[in-house]
Amino acid sequence: MQRIANYIGGELVPPVSGRYLENIEPATGRSFSEVPDSDSADVDRAVAAAKKAFPGWSEAPLEDRSKRLRRIADLIEAKADALARAESVDAGKPLSAARQVDIPRAAANFQFFSSAIQHFFSESHAMGSQALNYTLRVPLGVVGCISPWNLPLYLFTWKVAPALAAGNTVVAKPSELTPMTAFYLSEICREAGLPPGVLNIVHGTGAKVGQSLVEHPNVEAISFTGGTQTGARIAQTAAPKFKKLSLELGGKNPNIIFADCDFERAVSTTVRSSFFNQGEICLSGSRIFVERPIYETFRDELLQRTRALRVADPLSGDCDVGALISENHLHKVLSYIDLAQTEGGQILTGGKQVRLEGRCENGFFVEPTIIEGLTPDCRVNQEEIFGPVVTLMPSDHEDEVIEYANGTMYGLSATIWSENLTRCHRLANRIHCGVIWINCWLLRDLRTPFGGMKQSGVGREGGFEALKFFTEAKNVCVYF
Ligand code: NAD
Repeated sequence: MQRIANYIGGELVPPVSGRYLENIEPATGRSFSEVPDSDSADVDRAVAAAKKAFPGWSEAPLEDRSKRLRRIADLIEAKADALARAESVDAGKPLSAARQVDIPRAAANFQFFSSAIQHFFSESHAMGSQALNYTLRVPLGVVGCISPWNLPLYLFTWKVAPALAAGNTVVAKPSELTPMTAFYLSEICREAGLPPGVLNIVHGTGAKVGQSLVEHPNVEAISFTGGTQTGARIAQTAAPKFKKLSLELGGKNPNIIFADCDFERAVSTTVRSSFFNQGEICLSGSRIFVERPIYETFRDELLQRTRALRVADPLSGDCDVGALISENHLHKVLSYIDLAQTEGGQILTGGKQVRLEGRCENGFFVEPTIIEGLTPDCRVNQEEIFGPVVTLMPSDHEDEVIEYANGTMYGLSATIWSENLTRCHRLANRIHCGVIWINCWLLRDLRTPFGGMKQSGVGREGGFEALKFFTEAKNVCVYF
């Protein structure tokens, strides 16, 4: 069985405790690798290595930093097939999704920030002929990056790349459920000649590694993506220590469909925004509101296309929906399907665990599920399920659908489908979400701010927002 290592001070090293966690393949339910069960001793070492590397990395010419990051991007691209396979096995997602989305985006994250840092600017403000202010953006020092399991390398690199580009050194913790591609990234960093200690990767649980990282006195900032409850816990720990915090949390995103939409695009994208990556995407459009005149036609078409999705071995060529991340998560998703029925919902399609034959007979598969007949304020429509489960509701008025859209504690993303662009802009203005898609979904431009309102997060990632987060503004006032 493969045993992976931490990446500390440029070396691949075992955890101080010598203990390992089992890593389960979601599609088979079987353990296939061992992950360091690291603790505060490993975090201490990693932070010390990062601290030592900081002066060299932060003072290196920008072009050198940029070149190193570009080299990492190139190596990710060159190893894309192997990385995609590793991601698919580790996360249960279809190999095609990993190959087309996760791994290209991981390379793009490094590529983008290697370039963005060269265009990042500082400001100056002249006070007439009296004085000049100029604002430096200085790196913070050692920063911590903590990422979830649903888009493992994609989200890990979305934090690590801007942090490094801005001149920080990093201690990063991938999810203990999907550590493999972060481990391969550590090998890539060695091959790319990243100086020792600039990036350190410590594997293990949130309770031990994550918590120690957040508590560590020499870690200046935490960039976290994960659940809202975990985010609250991190905020509680970090706030009294005055650490900078970026929190990307959960969502319960409305997908709003008007009768005058481009029907074909709306329905085909809705299949994707509902079930891509098994619905394990913070941006999934899990609450679908359809304007009454097309409700039945839209529902029937959506049902037909959903029934055609193939739940299969993620490594096979004909898989649309893979396995959920873990047995615990499978039970959580199934419990929401039960709850939906208790709350008066009807399961239009799906609703059950899928038992495959052969290699995947013990995998964590669930049918893509569509539920109708629930009220917008019931628990199934308020809580994040994070699986292949969506609800369908008719809507009659614009004001009503806005109220529904805004009626949860979350505010991550919303999708609006209508050919009436005036209406789309009006809704975009009134919906309380950080990311709004009009007539599209998951179309990402890495320069744009990304993040949620309300309990979906604090701060923004992406483009210069990320570079601002990973730097401190220092104003210098020069009197003439
Ligand atoms: P999670 O909160 O359980 O874990 C996320 C990471 O935090 C993991 O690496 C985990 O080990 C670590 N962690 C756990 N407890 C910690 C603690 N006390 N201190 C520090 N770190 C700790 O989330 P998950 O189950 O891995 O991911 C699913 C969640 O992530 C969903 O709620 C989803 O909406 C959210 N998510 C949000 C975005 C976004 O951009 N807003 C993107 C992807 C996923």
